[in-house]
Amino acid sequence: MGRTRLTIHHLYADMMNLYGDRGNVIALRKRAEWRGISVEVLDVGLGEGLRPTGCDLFLFGGGQDREQALLASDLSGTKGADLRAIVENGGVVLGVCGGYQLMGHHYETLEGEKLPGVGIFDMYTRPGRPGEARLIGNVLARVRSPEGGDVHEIAGFENHGGRTELGETEPFAQVIAGHGNNGRDGAEGARRLNAYGTYLHGSLLPKNPWLTDQLLLNALRQVDENIELEPLDDAVELDAFSSMAERLRG
Ligand code: GLN
Repeated sequence: MGRTRLTIHHLYADMMNLYGDRGNVIALRKRAEWRGISVEVLDVGLGEGLRPTGCDLFLFGGGQDREQALLASDLSGTKGADLRAIVENGGVVLGVCGGYQLMGHHYETLEGEKLPGVGIFDMYTRPGRPGEARLIGNVLARVRSPEGGDVHEIAGFENHGGRTELGETEPFAQVIAGHGNNGRDGAEGARRLNAYGTYLHGSLLPKNPWLTDQLLLNALRQVDENIELEPLDDAVELDAFSSMAERLRG
């Protein structure tokens, strides 16, 4: 795997990095490098276009309404159209919370401003109604359509005012403990092809190593469909997952 090179495109890295979402970049980079795969991380800011290299992963972290409003028009132009086309071609995207909300049709702020989204997922996000609290806390969720039939759970932390309603798009996971997309229907996140959206910060990937590897495999298989990843010693990562999962299950 020595010659394989993966590019991680970190969208709006300086603006969308709540609760250490940058840790997702670090987890992906390290788990690739530990297998001898070299990684380049490109920060993609306002006014900068997407430049896929053939073996790519796109990350879009969480942020407050203020940051979402600042970048929504930048995203709704060519960049959004390019990202949508990338997903249609099997490209890999992970959006967290504020980034996830902008992967739908629109995100409506508390002030009633409708920020356009990329439309990767058939969904929209509305603000909480008067008297509805923010959805905050630790989350444990079971992945709905597991790759290869393996049952997986994810653990993380959510803090959002927005309520996401899915249309035709499948949820990524089913809430075991916590609120998820809207605190009502048990759905957590969204999944379409190799695009994933979730409310889970934490950061998410360091303590959910199987998901990190799934994203890596999805990206690497764009250049070599038979590629496999050598197993790693995940004892520390799985300890972190279990201590949270057991607390929430109890
Ligand atoms: N601004 C969004 C909300 O509160 C997202 C916040 C976040 O990314 N944690 O709904």
